[in-house]
Amino acid sequence: MARIFNFSAGPAMLPTSVLAQAAEEMLDWQGTGMSVMEMSHRGNAFVEIAAKAEQDLRDLLQVPAGYRVLFLQGGATGQFSAIPKNLIGDKRSADYINTGSWSKKAIAEAKQTIDVNVVAQSANQHLLDIPAESTWQCDPQAAYFHYCANETITGVEFPAIPAVDHAPLVCDMSSTFLSRPIDVSRFGLIYAGAQKNFGPAGLVVVIVRDDLLDRAQPDTPSVWHYQLQAEADSMSNTPPTYSWYIAGLVFQWLKDQGGLAAVGERNERKARYLYEAIDATDFYHNPVDPAVRSWMNVPFVLADSALDKLFLDEAAAAGLQTLKGHRSVGGMRASIYNAMPEAGVEALVDFMQAFEKRHG
Ligand SMILES: *Cc1c(COP(=O)(O)O)cnc(C)c1O
Repeated sequence: MARIFNFSAGPAMLPTSVLAQAAEEMLDWQGTGMSVMEMSHRGNAFVEIAAKAEQDLRDLLQVPAGYRVLFLQGGATGQFSAIPKNLIGDKRSADYINTGSWSKKAIAEAKQTIDVNVVAQSANQHLLDIPAESTWQCDPQAAYFHYCANETITGVEFPAIPAVDHAPLVCDMSSTFLSRPIDVSRFGLIYAGAQKNFGPAGLVVVIVRDDLLDRAQPDTPSVWHYQLQAEADSMSNTPPTYSWYIAGLVFQWLKDQGGLAAVGERNERKARYLYEAIDATDFYHNPVDPAVRSWMNVPFVLADSALDKLFLDEAAAAGLQTLKGHRSVGGMRASIYNAMPEAGVEALVDFMQAFEKRHG
């Protein structure tokens, strides 16, 4: 059996050892005689799986007291509408910064429910930098401030948590969650879809500060209602049990890797190695402001786009797959989430250098 290096932006690669353990436990989870997929979410076995996953996630992120961790469905996109409904309270509008496609989608969904104040938008028409904080036009009355920590499509990542203190900070962390340590206490709410960096599609994790649970609009559907879900331990309806279980295996794997400090160092090394290879030649180019380049999604173009198809075909034949850039950007994109080993990035760089020798 040969596993390829899968550079997909999501659903993305999972650690091989996690998949192997899931395979081993598929028919009979720890002597229960059934698969996790077949278990009641209210039975002891699943309740134990769910609680361990939550505790391991809390340990990894050092989640302080006073935060709830919810395991919900509907992806990050579901949260684009759940957040305004839950957090608007008696305010009228919220602040959003537009740094790319996912920010834009979050803004469009929020506008269905509330007024949105876009505090800033990159001057670069392709949104390949992040405007300086001093230029943001924030509203002191905002219900919250929303940003996307890592724009998965363009590969633009906030290098640090923005210094926002006029409103609770809300973050779409989908494509950078668990890639490095973060200070959860700075946030009112963090959300992340699992299929980028910690599990299968069908699960979104929401970490929300207790004091934000009491301001949902009365017509908020119960599956989206943070307080109701918190009171029901994320089980006001059937949760995505299997995705929750796999996420738990990934959390255990991250702990076994040495936790987020160790994982973050490795991710930083992987990204640096790839950007250095891209910057070393005019044959390849990454257009993002170097100060805000993503550790997770590395887009690049070939100087001669007529070679794109050949590049992708030869890369795939070499076991380096799903490198095609997002349809809105073109070129290539290497997503190098936690589960991508350093050997995968090294193999990609070796391939890029050999391809340039042959075709440059
Ligand atoms: C993938 C992604 C989303 C959307 O996730 P879905 O699970 O498809 O709803 C939102 N935000 C970011 C940053 C993403 O990478």
